Amino acid sequence: LATLQGGAAPDQSLGTDDAAAVAKIRLESQLREALDGGRLQMHLQPLLDIPTGKIAGYEALIRWDHPERGPISPLEFITLAEETSLIVPVGQFMLQEAISALVTMRSRGMAQLPFLSINVSARQLREADLIQSLLERLGDAALPASAVKLEITESQVLDYPHTAEVLDACRAAGIRVALDDFGTGFSNLSHLSALAFDTVKIDQAFLRGVEGSSRAAMMLDAIVGLVRATGADALAEGVETPEQLQTLRRLGVRYAQGYLIGKPEPLARALQAQGAA
Ligand code: C2E
Ligand code: MG
Ligand code: MG
Ligand code: MG
Repeated sequence: LATLQGGAAPDQSLGTDDAAAVAKIRLESQLREALDGGRLQMHLQPLLDIPTGKIAGYEALIRWDHPERGPISPLEFITLAEETSLIVPVGQFMLQEAISALVTMRSRGMAQLPFLSINVSARQLREADLIQSLLERLGDAALPASAVKLEITESQVLDYPHTAEVLDACRAAGIRVALDDFGTGFSNLSHLSALAFDTVKIDQAFLRGVEGSSRAAMMLDAIVGLVRATGADALAEGVETPEQLQTLRRLGVRYAQGYLIGKPEPLARALQAQGAA
């Protein structure tokens, strides 16, 4: 970096760390360009309400088709955006996309308006007006607060000391909140029981092998019991086989998400799948 800023001797070559830092800065500026140039996209993945067999909502997932590298995993560029403050405008873009998708869904006369579940980073929770601006956007679109759910990962909950206040503000406003990737963030169980989530999303790691191994099935059963004890609805992530769905039904899990039910896809295709195109 010192080299780029002109502070180092010109013949000094970049070390590995410097090269990585430069690549990161480059990706960050490309992400900023993609955001400004309208090249970020929102995909929607259906969430099955197991008892009724209906699609109750969709998770909004960001997509970036990089001009040179092709599609890049959000795990890579969201982490980068969180390190800088780019996550704030990127997050606003996703909120806006989600609201416009809800408006479209309503105009297509979907029998019941599904909810959209939107991932938010701790950095966004720190923005004092996140909830207020979300409520304003919803109000402008004449949408109820119950049309959105915010997803916060377990590790981010632990990172951010004021989660309880944000959750209270959401609850007071009627916005529901989900704890994402449960079981992977070195769960602080006392913390979990103190926070009131509407939904707890059990990480897909706990679904692997539940068809075969009784140990995996017992683990899943125990986790579902834990979630139920907090008063939240359980959602299982990464459902890929009918046998897994059958297990979830038997355990009384409320929602299922995964390739078996549907892959993340653009709004138009999600509507087609629901016969609402
Ligand atoms: P997540 O919130 O846990 O999202 C679920 C991930 O599981 C998605 O990965 C989805 O494509 C994937 N998935 C869904 N069903 C299956 C399945 O049956 N099998 C397998 N193997 N995978 C499945 P994706 O889209 O790559 O997103 C990765 C993570 O990036 C998300 O994990 C979330 O933490 C983050 N992310 C995505 N979009 C946003 C966003 O708009 N804002 C923020 N802050 N984070 C986002
Ligand atoms: Mg999520
Ligand atoms: Mg998740
Ligand atoms: Mg995840």
